[in-house]
Amino acid sequence: MSLTVFTNAFLIDCTGADPLEGAAVVVEDDRIKAVAPDGKVGALPGRVTTLDLEGKTLMPGLTDAHVHICAVTENITDQHRYYPPSYIAARAMKRAEECLLQGFTTVRDAGGADYGFRMALEEGHFPGPRLLVSGRYISQTGGHGDKRRRSEWTDPIDCCVGMIGFIADGPDEVRRAARENIRRDVDQIKIMASGGAMSPSDELDTTQFTVAEMRAAVEEAEAVGTYVLSHAYSDMAVRRAIEAGVRSIEHGNLIREAAAQAIKEAGAFLVPTMVTYEAIYREGKRYGSGDHQIAKIDLARQQSLQGLTYAYKAGCKIGSGSDLLGDMATQRAVEFELKGQLMTPMEVLLSATKVNAELFRMQDKIGTVEPGKYADFIVVEGNPLRNLRALQNQDNLKLIMKGGRVFKHTL
Ligand code: ZN
Ligand code: ZN
Repeated sequence: MSLTVFTNAFLIDCTGADPLEGAAVVVEDDRIKAVAPDGKVGALPGRVTTLDLEGKTLMPGLTDAHVHICAVTENITDQHRYYPPSYIAARAMKRAEECLLQGFTTVRDAGGADYGFRMALEEGHFPGPRLLVSGRYISQTGGHGDKRRRSEWTDPIDCCVGMIGFIADGPDEVRRAARENIRRDVDQIKIMASGGAMSPSDELDTTQFTVAEMRAAVEEAEAVGTYVLSHAYSDMAVRRAIEAGVRSIEHGNLIREAAAQAIKEAGAFLVPTMVTYEAIYREGKRYGSGDHQIAKIDLARQQSLQGLTYAYKAGCKIGSGSDLLGDMATQRAVEFELKGQLMTPMEVLLSATKVNAELFRMQDKIGTVEPGKYADFIVVEGNPLRNLRALQNQDNLKLIMKGGRVFKHTL
């Protein structure tokens, strides 16, 4: 048994309660054993490591509901044309490590990573966050997951590791693709319900898949106790996805009141990914994105705050994602500042902890600092409630702990 005690913490426990000054938290092995709001933990048996957090914030490890660790380069449309799966797999593990060192202790991969990546991280072969995988995303022909250029007459790519999906048309093919993913032990199923920015042959403001096709994926997911997350931009695309039973709407930039209301009534989640549009709009050209892609990114960028505002006003559950590609992933924590244009700093932190935990169906294990949960923590120099930007500078992260194991310690 090993005990670690954090003392003198400015504790943001992310339950929604006000922060506490001078709190103490006791960690036993991989779990939180006790939280002492007044800092008094009493006598503790055995070997105890005490860490004084005077002047620093202790909060749960951050979570990101929309990562792509296999987007190892910025140009996801072409990376499979240039690199073998082995290279992509090796670099994906590095991307996972970068994620953890940004303070993110659990992340949901929104397509690309399979269970092998999760296993390699779980077994501790590489440092990285807890990873929830979606395997290969499912897209219609010519949809957001179809990476063929308009000029190409080849069959869709159907193999390997990386940002690769299933192309499926009709409920039966979608069902089969979902079952293949489930056979490969995904945590959830990802589908593409509208056009997207980085895809070569569609537009944002479109719908993709019929409701019946999406429903087939939802039925298969629910049959094994999981759920579907769906890429979707327009109001119509989001409403159709919700009608099919999708639980997690990704992006949602172009929604209006009707889709926001539909998300709310279904008890579904919206996962905005505002930062990626800012990043690609600024830097995409340099990484090889074409004019058509940048124009679509700009449209999404201009409407992302508006989309979030509709969802916020409707009272939707708002999770936190980033969807960053390649080296742009260094900007992951910029998402908080962007959400902070509308949401309070506490709401922003909750979306990246407690709300995401509920979305992941891991609310019993992660997301808040409460006894019995995993000892997933970050210690931050300063107070993120006063300045969300504090989370953007990795030097401010003085300690990163996942499941009781320390991955960074510069206290
Ligand atoms: Zn997407
Ligand atoms: Zn994505």
